[in-house]
Amino acid sequence: MTDLIKTGQKHVASGCGRIKDHMIEKGEGSWLHTNETKYLDFTCGIGVTNLGHCHPRVTKAAQEQVATLVHGQCSIGFHRPYVQLIEKLLPVMPHPSLDSFFFLNSGSEAVENAVKIARKSSGKTHGNIICMQGSYHGRTYGASALTKSKTIYAEQVGHGMPGIFATPFPYAHQMGLPQSTPEDELVKQCLFQLEMLLAQQSAPADTAAIILEPVIGEGGYVPAPSSYLHGLRQICDDNNIMLIIDEVQSGFGRTGKYFASEYSGVRPDILVIAKGIANGFPLSGVVTRKELTDKMPKGSLGGTYSGNAISCAAGVECANIMREEKILDNVKARSAELLAALKELQTDSETKHLFADVRGLGLMIGVEFVSSSKHPIPNASISNATPNNVGGRVQKRCLEKGLMLLTTSAFDVIRFIPPLTITKDEMELGCKIFKESVREVAK
Ligand code: PMP
Repeated sequence: MTDLIKTGQKHVASGCGRIKDHMIEKGEGSWLHTNETKYLDFTCGIGVTNLGHCHPRVTKAAQEQVATLVHGQCSIGFHRPYVQLIEKLLPVMPHPSLDSFFFLNSGSEAVENAVKIARKSSGKTHGNIICMQGSYHGRTYGASALTKSKTIYAEQVGHGMPGIFATPFPYAHQMGLPQSTPEDELVKQCLFQLEMLLAQQSAPADTAAIILEPVIGEGGYVPAPSSYLHGLRQICDDNNIMLIIDEVQSGFGRTGKYFASEYSGVRPDILVIAKGIANGFPLSGVVTRKELTDKMPKGSLGGTYSGNAISCAAGVECANIMREEKILDNVKARSAELLAALKELQTDSETKHLFADVRGLGLMIGVEFVSSSKHPIPNASISNATPNNVGGRVQKRCLEKGLMLLTTSAFDVIRFIPPLTITKDEMELGCKIFKESVREVAK
């Protein structure tokens, strides 16, 4: 063990968890090199390095920007990469009404700004915000109050942002219903529960926004049924409630479309973006209608580093690569291969008893194991290899064989978030390691 790892173990706050105490030395395409070995990286740093580690074109764009302008503070003036990024993003927005942008550093920061805009622009100053059971919106005080995937993010730290209510999300297992429950039934139940919430606890006049991820991420990799999203839109329209769609993890091609919202066609009032936007450079954004941001006092949106020039320059190049390298086509092809491999395990007589569900969109795929149908695994962490937790054990085996995977919160789910640029051979290798690991755990 190197001295630096020892320093890390001693002095990095223990509240910061990690899969393993190793040193990540280098990232290259789909691979992560550590002080010990190299891994095929199916985590993408939690859905961030979508175009592969250190994509040469993104690196070059950032290097050129470093030599030109590092910090063009947004309260002092426009800077080129900031506005150029808007020009790149305008045509790929999931709805043409989304025409007003500002950039921040993290997903959490963007979520909190979205709430401010929803409250101010709806005129419901102290309006409640309804989030989904199983949601993840971040770790800062406000965002963690909206996070319901597991308790640790807001445990014993006092009340976060006030006025938060959680409503059920159409995820059978989380609703205590059999996996076989028809989707229509789940959606009907969830919309009914939301109507009840608005009738009994948070009056529409006191409700500023509903926030959700179109594919629940940390909470289990469950896509929201299209009919549920349409139902939410209707409820929002009927009651002057803002619909905030958080595409921090599902955006920028992850699900096979530029944004997951495109699958349903449902219009967000406010869209929250981050992660894949700049392939690892810290950048997030809030996109909404100009008429809403026009209600915000001048200077009320922004921050010292918001819309950093290097991150925005990287973001511009990412948008170019997405188009020129036909990344969405690769997502579709690799997704089909991954799903085929997972379905094979799900139906194989030796392994099928472990599987509860295989689900997801594009390269945002979750595998839920039956072990979680007994009870939720409270506060499952990023590496939770207990004897009852199949996902944690599979994750550990995969790691030993050179494949890095993440689990999700609360239930026994392994998630697949490989780079969108992953090659056919790399996908084949990842699936081979996963299959071997599942077969070993199944014995
Ligand atoms: N929203 C979603 C859907 C996320 O997945 C995340 C991060 N996992 C966040 C918000 C928070 O982003 P950040 O960690 O950059 O604050």
